[in-house]
Amino acid sequence: MKRFALAGALFAVAPLCAQAATITEEAVRTAVTWLASDERGGRDTGSVELNAAGDWLAARLQKAGLTGLQEGSLFYEFPLAGHLIDSKTIVCKLVRKFGDKEQDFTLTADVDVRQWTVSDAVAGEAEATTVASLEDPVMQRLLFANSARRPIVCEVAEDHPYWITAKGSRPVLGQKREASRPVFLVRKGVLPPPPENDQREATWTATWSVEPAEKADVPQRNIVAWLPGTTKKDEFVVVSAHYDHLGFGRPVGDDRIYNGADDNATGTTAVLLLAEAMAKMDKPARSVLFVCFTAEERGLLGSKAFCERPPVPLDKVVANVNLEMIGRPEEGKAGKAWITGHDLSDFTAITTAAFQRAGIEVVEFPMAAGLFTASDNWSFARKEVVAHSISAGSLHKDYHQPSDEVEKLDIPHMTKIIRGLLEVTLEFANRDAAPQWNEKGKARIARKGW
Ligand SMILES: [Zn+2]
Repeated sequence: MKRFALAGALFAVAPLCAQAATITEEAVRTAVTWLASDERGGRDTGSVELNAAGDWLAARLQKAGLTGLQEGSLFYEFPLAGHLIDSKTIVCKLVRKFGDKEQDFTLTADVDVRQWTVSDAVAGEAEATTVASLEDPVMQRLLFANSARRPIVCEVAEDHPYWITAKGSRPVLGQKREASRPVFLVRKGVLPPPPENDQREATWTATWSVEPAEKADVPQRNIVAWLPGTTKKDEFVVVSAHYDHLGFGRPVGDDRIYNGADDNATGTTAVLLLAEAMAKMDKPARSVLFVCFTAEERGLLGSKAFCERPPVPLDKVVANVNLEMIGRPEEGKAGKAWITGHDLSDFTAITTAAFQRAGIEVVEFPMAAGLFTASDNWSFARKEVVAHSISAGSLHKDYHQPSDEVEKLDIPHMTKIIRGLLEVTLEFANRDAAPQWNEKGKARIARKGW
């Protein structure tokens, strides 16, 4: 009876499964707001803030009862290129000039001063850009700019995650920029405040040296949560979204946090809530992997790493349902979704039928063909896995801007889409036949090129 009830076609007349009731507007709003808040700092690859988001996602998935594919962690690490920097090697003296007064401060490495970024200026003496606290807006702008030639000294409270992260030796992402300045964090309280009642501005000079930074691999984290199937446990549906975004960047107005609410806190929220909902339901026939990719914005690097060294054989992945920007429909398109590369496989027909059960219409989107290679589904498609991105939005004017904020999301629309995606995921996990590329699809993926 159970097997009978699970057959895809027979779902057609059934009402939207009751379990979707756990996917509420409130749950959607809470999760997407957490992911897209200013505290997450725009979730840049390799950042302290993305790390916190990863910990949070993994903890919720584990609490829902999901596991990794092996014992233990849900994190799947892969390396990106960077450098090893070591706060213990800093020699740093600051001189404060205040009117005709001069004061020297010799800072103890790793105790008073820590290194934040990699630079090739391993030693020097230069006027330092204002000593200020991390919360200072001017300092925030400088800290994430690429062009400053002066060393930057920034005061940070000792319980701040940046101060804690910068302790000792650690690998950091990115290339050394020629003639770039070092950024030093100084523990708050080490430098005395300027004398009271004196409005004059102090000038600072830094004399510093650090060990030259060696090249090093920097581990990045994809998150993989496994919902084991029943009768086809060794076949997999991968439901994925990238949880990274652009981080801090060029300010627009006074906002320099690229929150990435729609891109792609919405897709990440969907993956999370789908996992939590399905963990409470009868298990589907196939296994489902709920995957959050990092480094998508740097060129699909997280999904590429996943597909180069897959945790399960890729020929056992029947479909990748990748989710991108599902929170902001175009005018008049609320409750509608579209699929990238929609005419390349029978994924669209299968998804359309499943969405229909949740009252969602699949529509065509003018750029859907070009966007087929623009998200993590492409890493799978290149390996011949049937893989498409489902979106339920638009390329709005806030795309890749600091103004991609949570207030602009249409939460009722997004909630409806996620409920529909539960139907879609169940369909792929339970239906007999796996989706297939058509001739046009085969020709497209054979070309490999973007
Ligand atoms: Zn995206």
